[in-house]
Amino acid sequence: MTTAEKIKKYEDWVFRVSAYSMALSIIGIDKMTVAPPGGAAYRDEREAFLSGELFSIETDPEIIEILGELKDDETIDPATRRAAQLYHRNAMNTVCIPKEEYVAFRRLQNESYDAWLSAKSKDDYSLFAPYLQKVIETQKKMYGYRKSDMDIYDQMLDDFEPGMNREKYDAFFAALKERLVPLIQCVAKATPLNKSCLSQHFAIEKQKQFTKHLLAYLHFDKEWGYQNETEHPFTSWTCENDCRTTTKYVEDNLISVILSTVHEVGHATYEHDVAPEFDGMILSEGISSGMHESQSRLFENYLGRSLPFWQANYPLLQETFSPQLANVGVEEFVAAMNASRPGLVRTEADELTYPMHILIRYELEKALFSGNLSTEGLDRVWDDMYEKYLGVRAEKASESILQDVHWADGSFGYFPTYALGSAFAAQFVAKMKEDIDVDEALRDNRFDLCVAWLKEHVHRHGCMYDADEIMRIATGKPFDVNIYLDYLEEKYTRLYGLKEEK
Ligand code: ZN
Repeated sequence: MTTAEKIKKYEDWVFRVSAYSMALSIIGIDKMTVAPPGGAAYRDEREAFLSGELFSIETDPEIIEILGELKDDETIDPATRRAAQLYHRNAMNTVCIPKEEYVAFRRLQNESYDAWLSAKSKDDYSLFAPYLQKVIETQKKMYGYRKSDMDIYDQMLDDFEPGMNREKYDAFFAALKERLVPLIQCVAKATPLNKSCLSQHFAIEKQKQFTKHLLAYLHFDKEWGYQNETEHPFTSWTCENDCRTTTKYVEDNLISVILSTVHEVGHATYEHDVAPEFDGMILSEGISSGMHESQSRLFENYLGRSLPFWQANYPLLQETFSPQLANVGVEEFVAAMNASRPGLVRTEADELTYPMHILIRYELEKALFSGNLSTEGLDRVWDDMYEKYLGVRAEKASESILQDVHWADGSFGYFPTYALGSAFAAQFVAKMKEDIDVDEALRDNRFDLCVAWLKEHVHRHGCMYDADEIMRIATGKPFDVNIYLDYLEEKYTRLYGLKEEK
């Protein structure tokens, strides 16, 4: 076969993969947004079948051979070569699994999600525990097929964040613990900030009106983006011009919808801004979960919680909720939304205590996969960890072990990327502030200037480079966790008027 023939076969195959992926992505979005629960069993069965069809396409022996040749072919263009490398890596991780087992696992993931949803609504961990146990056992078996030198949890960490493993995460979390635990303790002893302005009654209809304005400010365009509502906000996409996000409205919590909207638009903008020539192929995705979270958390925490952002948006918010916010100034509002208080729910955590929520999940996952911990009684272990690290204990399973969806479908190794992403974001923002006047852009209704910087330095590359290379390209240096820790220390020392005790 000539190189041209191989490329033709490869391109036809990429198109078929993208068609099945699009269908499965839409089915997934539908399941999590509007599909009635009564039809779940029927849909789950067929979704698993379609996943099996995609499995067959992805693991076609002829295509694996072609990918194996293209990935090392110096004569073809670098983007095709890079894509072939990534497709080949994925195919090798999949082809070792017997198809029936792969399909059965897809079915289990769907059933486990349904069980989690129902257990959460009933506040009963025992309804979910058997599924969790089965998901963990099956994941161990599936990863075992790879015959990798790496241990199973390291492989999972590497899947979500290529290049990461327990050793590196242990060092990362140790650095976080060393500087954040004392800071959290200092903040706990300081005079608390008044957050009461955020927890009054805010009519959902009015929140919706404001969200419309917020989406426009963020340059989230209906031409390529769509926002829906779900209990757990998420973002998914089929191509650069079809990015779906969701948000959540809570009547007595004004910032829930605001922060989840800004966060998810961060994910969607990343996907939208990848170079259009990568559309429909593996290069169109964010290179790693940490890099994706860095973009959503950059939007949410570094821009969306800042004073200049609210100098532009607060007048309308205040007008929309005039009785509730009449006597609350913009600075008071921003201080309230940044206040730090240890809580039970990760998605509602402030920036400072957030990494502790992740640390707890990371330590539990490590123990679950090393065999030192079982799913029986895991809810109590969870609560003990919260008491140890955050000094709080849940009364309801829905606010403790059942709060997150990730374990239901077996996404172990994902959580640490949230903390890593927050830290990546600090380094991107520091560089962005050297290049452009971020505060002025936010105040002047020019959020697009921040987006343009990110597009140029991060987004457009998609998967063309690994995360550490993108960090170097964008900021000129390797990742440095101290930039993140300095940022948190400066921000919370200022916010709480803490004295430097060094
Ligand atoms: Zn996210």
